[in-house]
Amino acid sequence: MAILQFMSAGMPQVANPSTVHCDHLIEAQIGGEKDLERAISINKEVYDFLSSACAKYNIGFWRPGSGIIHQILLENYAFPGGLLIGTDSHTPNAGGLGMCAIGVGGADAVDVMANLPWELKAPKFIGVKLTGSLSGWASPKDIILKVAGILTVKGGTGAIVEYFGDGVDSISATGMGTICNMGAEIGATTSLFPFNDRMYEYLAATKRTAIGDFARDYAKELRQDEGAEYDQLIEINLSELEPHINGPFTPDLATPISKFSEAAKTNNWPEELKVGLIGSCTNSSYEDMDRAANIARDALDHGIKAKAAFVVTPGSEQIRATIARDGQLQTFEEFGGVVLANACGPCIGQWDRKDVKKGTPNSILSSYNRNFTGRNDGNPATHSFVTSPDLVVAMSIAGSLHFNPLTDKLKDKDGNEFLLTPPGGNSLPTRGYDPGNNTYQAPPADRSAVTVQVAPTSDRLQILQPFQPWDGKDALDMPILIKAQGKTTTDHISMAGPWLKYRGHLDNISNNMLIGAINEANGEANKIRNFTTNEWDAVPAVARDYKAKGIKWVVIGDWNYGEGSSREHAALEPRHLGGLAIITRSFARIHETNLKKQGMLPLTFAEPADYDKIKPDDKVDLLCTELAVGKPMTLRVHPKDGESFDIKLNHTFNEPQIEWFQNGSALNTMAKKNA
Ligand code: SF4
Repeated sequence: MAILQFMSAGMPQVANPSTVHCDHLIEAQIGGEKDLERAISINKEVYDFLSSACAKYNIGFWRPGSGIIHQILLENYAFPGGLLIGTDSHTPNAGGLGMCAIGVGGADAVDVMANLPWELKAPKFIGVKLTGSLSGWASPKDIILKVAGILTVKGGTGAIVEYFGDGVDSISATGMGTICNMGAEIGATTSLFPFNDRMYEYLAATKRTAIGDFARDYAKELRQDEGAEYDQLIEINLSELEPHINGPFTPDLATPISKFSEAAKTNNWPEELKVGLIGSCTNSSYEDMDRAANIARDALDHGIKAKAAFVVTPGSEQIRATIARDGQLQTFEEFGGVVLANACGPCIGQWDRKDVKKGTPNSILSSYNRNFTGRNDGNPATHSFVTSPDLVVAMSIAGSLHFNPLTDKLKDKDGNEFLLTPPGGNSLPTRGYDPGNNTYQAPPADRSAVTVQVAPTSDRLQILQPFQPWDGKDALDMPILIKAQGKTTTDHISMAGPWLKYRGHLDNISNNMLIGAINEANGEANKIRNFTTNEWDAVPAVARDYKAKGIKWVVIGDWNYGEGSSREHAALEPRHLGGLAIITRSFARIHETNLKKQGMLPLTFAEPADYDKIKPDDKVDLLCTELAVGKPMTLRVHPKDGESFDIKLNHTFNEPQIEWFQNGSALNTMAKKNA
């Protein structure tokens, strides 16, 4: 949808460097190559569209199989002191290279691609001072698992987390990436590390020495200010840090390994470890893979393998090719592992899991970042825990939640007891990275002949037409499509689930518009009266009928209308189906801005009690010609029975945003300026 919206701006190319990544739609079934082939065939029309649109609009395209967006960003694009936005919550992974990288919704990405100002509420700052140094079984992952335990899943909301202190130097750049990545689990806007030699080494290893040298010139600007004050300060002594396991069902339930067996017993967690999974965007660096492979090799040298099923997801083609060359991949296979495609796979539920029936309680352990109910395998009874790749491998050998590799012995093939050697490994490949197969499609030099591929018969993709500009008149005698009662979140306005398939087809996905909102007239969802026929019908059907008859409409909403995810479809759909204004007691900020961007009028009752004066069958005039910065607008209400009366409406439009309304949308405005 972001690309489709950008296209509707009529700009010849993106205004800022942009890339597209295909990583979420590849289902893990039997292993890397076969799974990838299957995904390419199922999603062909989506990939063909993205590939051709990228070529047309000067966007880099990372084909399916390239790897996970965040790993590719770290390997190719992230740099100290830069600002980056990405349409995925784990974008802050790039903080491992000192980049201010923030996860956003598609509408924000379109702003950046089209050079519209991108706005963010000024964040708070949380400082994390790291002292001592990591050693033994403790890994960078344990730092963020501990921080998540302290701050909880909400503790970082609206804040940037800044790490500093002597301890930072004992962490590799990719390890810092892991910590920043999982800052998303505490709700942080982003997380940052100061530029240091470890980042320089990584930049050099990924063929960006010049950027490293440049960053060195500005190193004093790329760290915390002298005497910086934080809204909250946490201190962690890395020399005392224990490995942690967080979960199940939430990433902030942190348990140190020494207490984990006891916690499993107390809470009745299924004690057999069914599956160990390593990789994902969080933990698939060379260092992660090398340390994990060394633990697996230790077991193999003692004649034993993984008891639990063991799954590896390389984060990128470069990582896969490098560990294939250097032998770690073969070690994993010897250990009993299955190597999946370079993609998200089981991390985002793209896992055709066969070993356990849905509903059967069982435990799995991964080096991923999220472990919400059902996330990995769609089974609400799966107890999913997150930890370091080191512990995943070690505990997969034992196949039990009761195993602590720091203290517990294993039995070798002859029954002799042994303790696993604490993991060690190279943070960077001594022979350099092997780029592997070329999975990148650069935009062609001459893009004039490129045609964007969208089949007119497609039900998943549809080219967007620019919205019509405002006609310059007041809008008279409009019906109220629905007077929504109580909570109306973006999920009520544009439901997810099966509808997600249609995210690239505005007309099809509009069939879910407001189907979750409760109609004040009857207390029911998705049942409203069509005033032209007097029949009761579904909300999208009535809106379509009004649109076909050239009738504009408004929605009346309650408090905090549009709260929830930043889903831009919730603003696009009412605009597409002919809505003019959404009038509420109050808005969730992001949804209010999204409505403005699509050329709609988000308005609020100056007197919240006026919400009650309007009835679902009333008609209204909206005096659009009054729209001016800081001035209220008039809504003239014509009750079905009774005298007309006026209501004052407030708005938060500034000058540029008023132009968005006048031109039909923010993108139309941008297109007009570029014409
Ligand atoms: Fe998101 Fe998981 Fe993919 Fe990372 S690996 S981008 S967390 S789905």
